[in-house]
Amino acid sequence: MMYRPAKAFIYLQALKKNLEQAQALAPKSKVLAVIKANGYGHGIERVAHHLSHADAFGVASIDEAMLLRQKGFLHRILLLEGLFSESEIPVVIQNRLDVVIHSEHQLNWLLNSKISIQLNIWIKVDTGMHRLGFDIQQLASVIAKLERSENDFCIQVMSHFASADETSEHSNLFTEKQIERFEDCTCQYQYPRSLANSAGLIRYPQSHYDWVRPGIALYGAGAIPNSDFTSLAVMQLESEIIAIKTIQVGESVGYGNTWVAQRKSIIGVVAIGYGDGYPRHAKTGTPVIINGQRFPLVGRVSMDMITVDLTDMSSQANIGDSAILWGQELSVDEIASFSGTIGYELLCGITQRVPMIEVQ
Ligand SMILES: *Cc1c(COP(=O)(O)O)cnc(C)c1O
Repeated sequence: MMYRPAKAFIYLQALKKNLEQAQALAPKSKVLAVIKANGYGHGIERVAHHLSHADAFGVASIDEAMLLRQKGFLHRILLLEGLFSESEIPVVIQNRLDVVIHSEHQLNWLLNSKISIQLNIWIKVDTGMHRLGFDIQQLASVIAKLERSENDFCIQVMSHFASADETSEHSNLFTEKQIERFEDCTCQYQYPRSLANSAGLIRYPQSHYDWVRPGIALYGAGAIPNSDFTSLAVMQLESEIIAIKTIQVGESVGYGNTWVAQRKSIIGVVAIGYGDGYPRHAKTGTPVIINGQRFPLVGRVSMDMITVDLTDMSSQANIGDSAILWGQELSVDEIASFSGTIGYELLCGITQRVPMIEVQ
């Protein structure tokens, strides 16, 4: 039974519509739906099920990939960071997984193994992010080695953006530079190419190539201002008011006595806290929707509760009134900006004790 009122509602139609929008935005490209980190915190199996029209899935580990295979998904599944150890090769073969190779050691594992099937390899080149990927100058030799191998490797080439979601002039130029470098080092090959994450898909049509790889946009976060893509929130985090009290001027609320009432105030206590994945760093002023209206969080976030200033509520607040922490009318990006983080982290961080309820 779910007696505690903290719940995450998962809007499955929103997920589907976001995928349809992604497909419409890049009609000539295939879509690799990124569902790593347990489907950005929404439940990987659930998400895969409702994104089954995607052309492929992207995950971060063999465990996630195997779970999808066990549940019967026959899609191409790409291991976005490739192999962590040579011992994973038999599992990759057995489960027919696609692998990224970003470094020499991974290349050697594959070249030195006898692989009985055709294996899809995504060579990752580093066009400026400087995290994973071969240097551009190495690409030709990596391709040559794979082509010469006795193994049957089916090659695609990819890279990843560092700041396609940032709209500053500097970031725009940097992203354009990444696209130019990618084009320059790959244009001589016929292999399928992939560059765009969500922000690339939305902001840089010239980065679509053969495969786009949206993640965050499928879940309704990472919004790009002034874009055509209206990514619908998939997760709505809700709870309820469990206590209401009136405090006098000069009295403080919560741990550390950080917030002090400047007027006689009505404080609502909502059953959600960092133990649920609500960010502890959410500042005073972070909006919370109660009875359809926004009110500011005040004082520190506790493990199981937050406190909200309801003084300006026109009607009377009651125990059991619903509280929306983020969702369709209150973007997780906005809550993230009040907490010094990004929507991705908040979505991934919902904890086990919060039941997820599917809304069809
Ligand atoms: C996570 C990831 C993506 C998706 O990025 P979003 O910003 O969520 O769209 C795409 N490509 C790779 C390689 C990734 O690791």
